Amino acid sequence: ASTLYVLATPIGNVCDISLRALHVLSMVDAVACEDTRNTAHLLERYGLSKTLLAAHEHNEREVAEKIVARLQAGERIALVSDAGTPAVSDPGARIVDAVLRAGLRALPLPGPSAAVTALSVSGLVNDQFQFVGFLPSKARQREIVLAGLAGASATLVLYEAPHRIVETVDALLQAFGPARQVVLARELTKLFESVHRCPLGEAPAWLAADGNRQKGEFVLLIEAAPVVIDDSAEGERILRILLSELS
Ligand code: SAM
Repeated sequence: ASTLYVLATPIGNVCDISLRALHVLSMVDAVACEDTRNTAHLLERYGLSKTLLAAHEHNEREVAEKIVARLQAGERIALVSDAGTPAVSDPGARIVDAVLRAGLRALPLPGPSAAVTALSVSGLVNDQFQFVGFLPSKARQREIVLAGLAGASATLVLYEAPHRIVETVDALLQAFGPARQVVLARELTKLFESVHRCPLGEAPAWLAADGNRQKGEFVLLIEAAPVVIDDSAEGERILRILLSELS
């Protein structure tokens, strides 16, 4: 008892929910969720009906207290977001923080996350990736963030909402140049799912060629910066050894 289950839900295809997640949803006392209609719909789909506690960006602190109190009373509560893994570019972290501070237990129920889903079909080197999430909406701030990322030796993972995709791709091109590979992963696991990979320089034309390509939710991946090996110091060291052999 007295556990907060941090539970991942589908990012599109409603079947992408684990058997364990369904089992936990069936036995909890309440479900804390972003949008009660959305979650009610998911539960209904699996024949479940639960007390729902609205927990969104704007009331996360108050709800955290409420959840702690319920857990202290011995309840079991699931925490979900509208899609994917809670607390990843979604509300949840404050609630988990409050639960841990109260000395209570938070258990993860793993499942979909758009970032990892896109990485898995990117074919980019994924031994290192950096999760950036949403870029700032203001152009100047976005530029500063991107300039700081230009040299990163990891695949970059960005989230983007449909209305800004063209603008964001232009900003990426400015910051990283035309040669690096970009992956535009759109509507993953949904009806109009598409994953397109091309050099960044070709991405604006690809988006412009068909208005449908700009619609939906996106994960953007950018290939890591090329590794520049500065071998001048090593060359000098070898030259010195050779010279000392000659003298
Ligand atoms: N917590 C979620 C996760 O674990 O992936 C992310 C939630 S965030 C508010 C929503 C963003 O995730 C979207 O704007 C988009 O960038 C990305 N996203 C979510 N579902 C997606 C999907 N089916 N296809 C592509 N991107 C998706």
